[in-house]
Amino acid sequence: MVDPQVIAANLATVRDQIAQAALACARDPLLINLVAVSKSQPAAAIRAAYACGQRDFGENYVQEWQQKANDLADLTDLRWHFLGHLQRNKVKQVIGKVHLLHCVDDMQGADEMARCAWQNQTNQDVLLQVNLADESSKRGCTEADADLFVEVLARSPGLKLRGLMLLPPYDLDVEAVRPWFGRLRALSERLGRDHGRAGNLPKAGQWWLSMGMSHDFAAAIAQGATHVRVGTAIFGERQALTG
Ligand SMILES: *Cc1c(COP(=O)(O)O)cnc(C)c1O
Repeated sequence: MVDPQVIAANLATVRDQIAQAALACARDPLLINLVAVSKSQPAAAIRAAYACGQRDFGENYVQEWQQKANDLADLTDLRWHFLGHLQRNKVKQVIGKVHLLHCVDDMQGADEMARCAWQNQTNQDVLLQVNLADESSKRGCTEADADLFVEVLARSPGLKLRGLMLLPPYDLDVEAVRPWFGRLRALSERLGRDHGRAGNLPKAGQWWLSMGMSHDFAAAIAQGATHVRVGTAIFGERQALTG
């Protein structure tokens, strides 16, 4: 089922495309973090990518992630990224245990994360998920609420806001998606100017931008993505996990 050679070849292709996209806009390819999205993929697939030097992996579901984190506990320098909506009662299972949480997506969740980080005396790097298109099917704060979220996060000692995350309206046509990437970057620049002096927040121009998936990461890089989240282009189609 898992073919390490296919994963190795896919990974090489994706890295190559990342490098090309970065060089095309005079960015340093090394500053673009590839997060291999491994949801619904077995631990063996993660091992195969790890063997090719991949260290950052993204998961969406707490139970599935915990299972894999257990299976892969010997890979001590593996970095987990949490990408999915975090129910409040599961916050404590994730805070302080992942490298980067991409999905602060509602105020109650943010409060619970802050409380939990404070209680455990951990520092958790987080990204604010923004629902730029105001899609009712998606989570994330609206553009209008972003300032409020940023202020709340700036006052949360255990949470370190690093930047923004975007799940734009899904469209296979990259040209339809591209403007959303530009808007997220513009928002981050404005937030950096307006709030960057709060000691706990990134300065203007230093905000991380998590945007771009398998079919559109090159466009996201052209618009300033620092983290691209790529699943199927590395691992192939997602499968229902059995056993
Ligand atoms: C699944 C997922 C991805 C990866 O999508 P692909 O199209 O498989 O690359 C990226 N980001 C998030 C938030 C996801 O849930």
